[in-house]
Amino acid sequence: MSKRIMVVDDSRLVRVQLEDALKGTEYEIAAYCRSGEDAIEQYDAVKPDLVTMDIIMQGIDGLDAAEIILKNHPDARIVMVSSLAYDDTFERAKAIGAKGFIDKPFHQEQLLNIFEQALA
Ligand SMILES: [Mg+2]
Repeated sequence: MSKRIMVVDDSRLVRVQLEDALKGTEYEIAAYCRSGEDAIEQYDAVKPDLVTMDIIMQGIDGLDAAEIILKNHPDARIVMVSSLAYDDTFERAKAIGAKGFIDKPFHQEQLLNIFEQALA
């Protein structure tokens, strides 16, 4: 059975890139969210196996959204996707309980490896 991914990103380009990278793989995009608020709201209904979470978004950013989702669902598997790889961002993502960090721009192989680790 394919694993269901919820993509959270305010960039249409990144949503399309993720869609392309996951085509023909064991992963299926179950939902797209354009904001942290949207992600928090949709998580319950979608119940994805894994979430890819952008960091910089209007309103609630990805780190805060991830923290809220993990507070409500400690078993949530969230991978941060960002070009913002400062040490403090990385540290905070880990402290919150994010399962991985994908740098933009990403390659399919890197993406799949991190998904596999996050779901292990
Ligand atoms: Mg963004």
